[in-house]
Amino acid sequence: MCKEVKTTCPYCGVGCGIIAATGEEGNVTIKGDPDHPANFGRLCSKGTALAETLDLESRLLEPEVYGEKVEWSAALDTVADGFRQVIQKYGPDAVAFYVSGQLLTEDYYAANKLMKGFIGSANIDTNSRLCMSSAVAAYKRAFGTDTVPCSYDDIEQARLITLVGSNTAWCHPVIYQRIALAKKKDPQLKVVVIDPRRTATCELADLHLPLAPGTDAYLFSGLLSWLDGAGVEDKVFTSNHCEGLDGALELAHQVTPTIEAVARLCDLSRDEVEAFYNWFAQTEESLTIYSQGINQSSSGTDKANSIINCHLFSGRIGKPGMGPFSITGQPNAMGGREVGGLSNQLAAHMEIENEDHRELVGRFWQAPNLCTSPGLKAVDLFQAIEEGTVKAVWIMATNPAVSLPDADRVRAALAGCELVVVSDTVERSDTVDLAHVKLPALAWGEKDGTVTNSERRISRQRAFLPQPGSARADWWIISEVAKRLGYAGTFSWQHPAEIFSEYAELTAFENQGDRDLDLGALCGLSGQDYDALVPTLWPCRKDSTGERRLFSDGRFFTPSGKARLIAVNPRGAENKPTSNCPFILNSGRVRDHWHTMTRTGKSPRLSRHIEEPYVEINDQDAKSLGLEEGDVAKLENGLGAALVRVNVGKDQKRGSLFSPIHWSSQNSSAARIDALVYPVTDPHSGQPESKHTPVSIRPLPTRWFGFLLSRRKLDLGGSEYWSSARGDRLWRYHLAGTQSPASWGELSRQWLCTDAENVDWVEYLDQSRGQYRSARFCDGKLDACLYIGAAKLLPDHEWIEPFFLKEALEERERAAILSGRPLQPGHDAGSTVCACFGVGKNTITEIIQSGNAGDVDSITRLTKAGGNCGSCIPELKQLLHETAGENFDLSA
Ligand code: SF4
Repeated sequence: MCKEVKTTCPYCGVGCGIIAATGEEGNVTIKGDPDHPANFGRLCSKGTALAETLDLESRLLEPEVYGEKVEWSAALDTVADGFRQVIQKYGPDAVAFYVSGQLLTEDYYAANKLMKGFIGSANIDTNSRLCMSSAVAAYKRAFGTDTVPCSYDDIEQARLITLVGSNTAWCHPVIYQRIALAKKKDPQLKVVVIDPRRTATCELADLHLPLAPGTDAYLFSGLLSWLDGAGVEDKVFTSNHCEGLDGALELAHQVTPTIEAVARLCDLSRDEVEAFYNWFAQTEESLTIYSQGINQSSSGTDKANSIINCHLFSGRIGKPGMGPFSITGQPNAMGGREVGGLSNQLAAHMEIENEDHRELVGRFWQAPNLCTSPGLKAVDLFQAIEEGTVKAVWIMATNPAVSLPDADRVRAALAGCELVVVSDTVERSDTVDLAHVKLPALAWGEKDGTVTNSERRISRQRAFLPQPGSARADWWIISEVAKRLGYAGTFSWQHPAEIFSEYAELTAFENQGDRDLDLGALCGLSGQDYDALVPTLWPCRKDSTGERRLFSDGRFFTPSGKARLIAVNPRGAENKPTSNCPFILNSGRVRDHWHTMTRTGKSPRLSRHIEEPYVEINDQDAKSLGLEEGDVAKLENGLGAALVRVNVGKDQKRGSLFSPIHWSSQNSSAARIDALVYPVTDPHSGQPESKHTPVSIRPLPTRWFGFLLSRRKLDLGGSEYWSSARGDRLWRYHLAGTQSPASWGELSRQWLCTDAENVDWVEYLDQSRGQYRSARFCDGKLDACLYIGAAKLLPDHEWIEPFFLKEALEERERAAILSGRPLQPGHDAGSTVCACFGVGKNTITEIIQSGNAGDVDSITRLTKAGGNCGSCIPELKQLLHETAGENFDLSA
């Protein structure tokens, strides 16, 4: 008998519903929840592979203080004593929490209440600052509140969907699939993609505008100016419900008076700009979805307001199929916004700088020390740690030593901090390694609470696994520290349902409709009601079921009740390319990995899609620099350096590079991309400019390349470039170096050896051809094998992996491993495109070339690729496009 539990995916802000089924043996299977309104049963590759991430390998399961395992009481005493001493000596602003969009709303609420209401500082900020705080600031400027006006239902009702700064196909795959399905049902639905890169998302686009990096505000300022000239203003709406129109228009006309001016500023053709402007002007049901490409900028708030301006001007807001729709990166970025996870907000969307709000929250909480001014935003917070003004920090469920800009400096700041407490699920990460106190937290599947997705829908994350070791819920850990700080009466919750109930009551407390966030209908839920809570949109005022769309009545939350158009003066990025750093590095996600890979990195099939850290470069730039596919390149600037594999193609604009953010010191020699990102931030939101980093790029003068398969995780000191990925019961390593060692045999033993008995080796060295191979056997089983050569693109080695599953090997199999040649000529499937069925790029390309597959459906029929979660369909289309040539019909 399987036990099924409905829960929510822990990855992106789409917030897909999941059914987790646990068998009698404890095995877990995952499928999409057909009843969840965010996904109706669909999941992407990451959600589908969740069961592969649930084992306890590499989990932090016991509290540790200064490297010693201790009981919970000792760890909690250490945290409380440490914080108390710092507060007593230096005041409450000398301590800080740095939290995460991975936390559940209840955890977030508890942390925020402790810091802002009881410790008396607002020094609590979140990694969501790096993801969408510009969208928050822009909504607040325009609407008076951080209110997402749209819901996912608008996708099916739109006639024009514009995706700005969003590789939706990879970063919000189920939203992408919803758009693709809507377009399939109604081919008249137009899709515009605005992105300097040609991404997988462009496979759906009727029009792709590859604008110059960072010029989005010029494009939308030009749109406002052009809409005015074309008479597209909704005059009833603007005169009754908007203010600031004249100033916004005046500046837009001044900065971007003509299409030609916009085309020049954005490096687009006049026709491209005009086509987009015409479609927007002609389409009432116009939905603009934007994401990190807009937000992660030193002018991200202005960029978002330039989009919102166009919707307000044309009255395209508050009605079906239209509106400016920011989609969030993390599973609970929205929940964090709601309960005050950002250092400049109070809980329940109330403002620190609003005296009435402070009075109301202080009274509701009966808070003795309510903060009176905003705290430090993420980048400033870590600078304060470096400067020593913040002396104790508690980091929860995030990895700032990898993910914050200027990450080397962040690492150094934490290394010099008096007290670093980290609550996490993993025993090692770049940040956990720096902690004085390590607190084991429950992971997805073990913890219980709520999350809010991009469309304001609150869903339950439910536990379906037992609590492992001594791991505890984050809200429990926070409450226990609060009790030790003297606040036992207030932090006495026994269950997350009690926290949710308190939070819901705060949203409705003296709320006469003047505050957007109101969960009145969810006040007073019993534990049973909470357990049974179905996905619910907010606002859900008392006796209502949740509002799909905000602002239908034209009433906004500003003092005048009118929306504000903001006069936007577009500006370029803070840091410009220089002769030393002539390239602009863009950073972002890949399809099958999440953040710093502490979870997706455990899944062999997710690791097969993209195994190594890489940089994408335009083919002409590559040629001019002498870079070839498969080279290792060094990216460098005044802050840091990274070593990554080179992908050459046409998807990047000239002068632009792209690298993913996922690799850390745990799985690469030097691929922490945020070590290069400058800590410049947007003046309104404090969000860093993660998509516009000047760098140089040059080939690493590599003498050798290699790969290594091992049952054990290894220390590869001596290899300048290495990266690791998880295989099925083994680790895969890619290696490269500029100097050959004095003895490959010695280095090989250094890398592969342990003290195990019954070990034997086989080795092969061809000095003249620079080839070395070795294999290590323990008790007759293959334990590790290493292949070194001069070729940068190494031959297929998939065929070796099954030998790791064998109890004993025949002589001819050992010979095959050493020779590097399979016993029978096999087929090199290439890098994985379809993670669900393990279908490789070469397999798909060959089928297309054979003429047997001319569309996605026939590829699926012949290989199964694309037949499950559908995340690879954009790549299948790309392969059809590339392989079958220009005549391929992209809509097929
Ligand atoms: Fe999870 Fe994928 Fe859904 Fe995002 S789109 S919530 S990663 S299943």
